[in-house]
Amino acid sequence: MTASEHFDVIVVGAGVAGSLIARSLGDRGWRVLVLEAGRGDGAGAPAVDVERFRSALVKVPSAAIAANPLAASPDVLDLRGDPGGGYHADGYLLQNGRLPYASGYLRVNGGTGTAWTGLTPRMHPEDFDTETFGYGRNWPIDYAVLEPHYRAAELEFGVAADVAEQRDLVSLPLPDGYAFPHSPVPASHLDRVVAGALDGHGVQDPFATRSTELRVVGTPQARNTTSTEAHGPVCEGSASCIPVCPTGAKYTPGRTQARWSPSVALVTRAVVGRIMPDAVGRIRGVEYQRYDDPASPAGVIRCTADADIVVLAAHAIENARLLLASGLANSSDQVGRNLMDHPVLLTWGLLPEPIGPYRGPGSTSGLEGFRFGPVRGARAPFRIEIGNWGWNWAVGAPDVEVRALLRDAGPTLPGGGGRRGLLGTALRHAVGNRIGRQFALQFEMEQCADPMNRVTLAPGQFDLLGSPRPLLTYDLSDHVKAGIVAAKSVSDQIFALLGAEDHSRYEPGPFQPGWFEFEGRPYAYRGAGHGAGTHIMGNSPATSVVDSWQRCWDHPNLFAVGCGSMPSLGTSNPTLTMAAITLRSAERIHRDLTALNGPIRLSARGPYRNPRIGKENDNA
Ligand SMILES: Cc1cc2nc3c(=O)[nH]c(=O)nc-3n(C[C@H](O)[C@H](O)[C@H](O)COP(=O)(O)OP(=O)(O)OC[C@H]3O[C@@H](n4cnc5c(N)ncnc54)[C@H](O)[C@@H]3O)c2cc1C
Ligand code: SF4
Repeated sequence: MTASEHFDVIVVGAGVAGSLIARSLGDRGWRVLVLEAGRGDGAGAPAVDVERFRSALVKVPSAAIAANPLAASPDVLDLRGDPGGGYHADGYLLQNGRLPYASGYLRVNGGTGTAWTGLTPRMHPEDFDTETFGYGRNWPIDYAVLEPHYRAAELEFGVAADVAEQRDLVSLPLPDGYAFPHSPVPASHLDRVVAGALDGHGVQDPFATRSTELRVVGTPQARNTTSTEAHGPVCEGSASCIPVCPTGAKYTPGRTQARWSPSVALVTRAVVGRIMPDAVGRIRGVEYQRYDDPASPAGVIRCTADADIVVLAAHAIENARLLLASGLANSSDQVGRNLMDHPVLLTWGLLPEPIGPYRGPGSTSGLEGFRFGPVRGARAPFRIEIGNWGWNWAVGAPDVEVRALLRDAGPTLPGGGGRRGLLGTALRHAVGNRIGRQFALQFEMEQCADPMNRVTLAPGQFDLLGSPRPLLTYDLSDHVKAGIVAAKSVSDQIFALLGAEDHSRYEPGPFQPGWFEFEGRPYAYRGAGHGAGTHIMGNSPATSVVDSWQRCWDHPNLFAVGCGSMPSLGTSNPTLTMAAITLRSAERIHRDLTALNGPIRLSARGPYRNPRIGKENDNA
């Protein structure tokens, strides 16, 4: 074990949350050590490999990062559906729930935010207060408290959106005179075709008393529509946002890391295994293991580091794992419980005319009319994303579609020998006709906090560094399933208005591990990658893990930050809200450190050099 060093703050994890905390505290002059389990190329550079992505056969979110057995990442390909229904999970996450938790995350410098889509809608004021509708858990703070932090997060991410549209069509209270940092991302051709066919029409949600008027609305996103020094170049529409934006137009944590002050030190390949308390419950620091070769635990060095404050920012599931493995913060018995995601129902089809899919960001617009109001008491509310990437998520197109056309879309062979594939002009026409008309809708369901959906430690199962592996127990409630029923009904009506052929199929088998039957009909859901809820925020230490500052009730100098703190997700992709609460936490941490240390003089500190490694940042 190496000798311990003392820091003002240790941050565990260099994803969105950890990078923001480190930036905010570093800017205030505090000495921050960021310990990151994954590999990475350091401040400012994305921890991804474009060539690896280009040559990957299946373009999943992890396709641009190298396998790392010592800091494994759960992958969507770890899940397989069984032929008669049910599923099995073969990867890093062990699962024993009735239905699978169907999302992954990345353990690499920059975290999951290297591969995210970049959609950044705010939560709506009523999303913080779902108990009013008879389900879920309320937040201890409301939209008004978070509003200035939303603006700060939008500035950091460089969000592109239209204020009037968000105010008028999403009913978001935005302050007078506010402008998003970037003008909105232009609507795709598909968005315009869909808007032309749907805007102003009503559809009947089976759970609502009145019909809902459809309106296509631009989605706020963390991608640049103008080139600025703060945010980088303009989005060029290269359509590989998951997992890698080659231009840097999409926000990733690397952008925040590039602006860290010299008082922030990053150590990559440093896997934290335990948080160390003292005899009275204050946290002294952490134990971590450093590796060189990601494939082998040989040569791993055990280290400790001490700090006045420790911040866990390792992702909802990993934060819970660390707290459970350390036996901390769990007097409420809520650590690991309330695991949430946004279960997604996909519907896909062919439009009558070509609409130019597989270009631009994954989604530029959506339909917002099913997110709000009393009907959410009867069924989960949902946002509808209009998908610009054809049937990619649904069936793996365009590759699988082209393969099918090459294989057996041509004339029948004589003698019962099957069908010939298409080549040349016939292939080009078929590709244009079929792939050019593909579109998909993504219905993202709110899933509320359920203590039975949880992360525990798998008995007797350890990773290569000797830490207990996470075991997930997950299911969908009837509230979510009712939302999925409503979504399919709404989709059927939308497809009819569009004159679209519906190709959606929900069948048990390897590619639909989230298949289930409800009220006699088959459905399948996907994970959105929005893991949340595992160190839930609340008003009382008896029923929650962290307070509204994301500070553990049981340990005054331990913070657990990220989506794991969120008591509800609404129907908004969660990272903007998570960034807002995290920036707010940074202010609290600053105040706590100031109280501990007295006022600091920024000019007295000078650039921080990590004494152990002899340079400002270790970007191994
Ligand atoms: C495909 C995909 C698309 C998404 N798209 C969107 C979107 O459009 N909009 C949106 O709002 N959200 C989206 N999300 C979710 C979003 O990516 C996450 O909410 C966000 O990245 C979480 O940030 P985080 O910092 O809390 O965790 P992470 O980004 O997961 O970062 C955690 C970091 O901690 C490190 N770490 C883990 N364990 C340890 C340990 N023991 N010791 C040291 N370090 C450790 C990890 O390596 C990682 O770097 C998407 C997710 C996926 C998978
Ligand atoms: S569409 Fe291309 S340039 Fe734009 S954010 Fe996505 S990957 Fe980056």
